Amino acid sequence: MYTEEVFKRRNEIGGSIEVVCGSMFSGKTEELIRRVNRARIAKVNVEIFSPVADTRYDKSALVSHNLNSIPSKTVAASAEILPLAGHIQVVGIDEAQFFDDGLPQVCQTLANSGVRVIIAGLDMDFKGRPFGAMPQLMAIADSVTKLHAVCVKCGQQAMYSYRLVPNESQILLGEKESYEARCRNCFNLDGQI
Ligand code: ADP
Ligand code: MG
Ligand code: ZN
Repeated sequence: MYTEEVFKRRNEIGGSIEVVCGSMFSGKTEELIRRVNRARIAKVNVEIFSPVADTRYDKSALVSHNLNSIPSKTVAASAEILPLAGHIQVVGIDEAQFFDDGLPQVCQTLANSGVRVIIAGLDMDFKGRPFGAMPQLMAIADSVTKLHAVCVKCGQQAMYSYRLVPNESQILLGEKESYEARCRNCFNLDGQI
């Protein structure tokens, strides 16, 4: 249960919001798993949430592209997170770009009540546009880490998720068959912007 008292008590610890962003294959999920695992080793209560929208893998675990995994809970809306985070000291959130607009406020409430919130998400969609609530989350974060993938065309640092299939909708779940990591030059070469 989350009550004002519980949140007030946790406040003594000091909460924070950390954002880990970047393109697809940049290692966001890996980094989220790494940070949360360290907290688990320190015997801290942790919980990872991911949106129902992301159904690519197991519903009860978060899996990175190199198949690292950690238990997680899927939720349909950001409003479901607070009631599930009653005694949790470290909250991880993956694929934050798929959540609704309420997520920044939920993260703020958690952090203000002493919870360390670690958020991973795509900063840009396949067109290079800011994705979902990520800009708001980055603005209110204590720290922002922008990771890069390797451009599959030239080997430079990649920050774009280039879509390989003809589909214009912002949300299209996919892996290597649908997306590749590209640097600015290689992304622009094929006229995606
Ligand atoms: P994200 O959550 O950012 O999509 P993951 O953490 O799931 O990324 O996966 C990162 C892993 O993806 C890397 O450690 C590497 O093994 C693999 N990978 C596959 N393609 C690439 C690429 N083009 N650049 C970097 N890593 C890649
Ligand atoms: Mg990921
Ligand atoms: Zn390139």
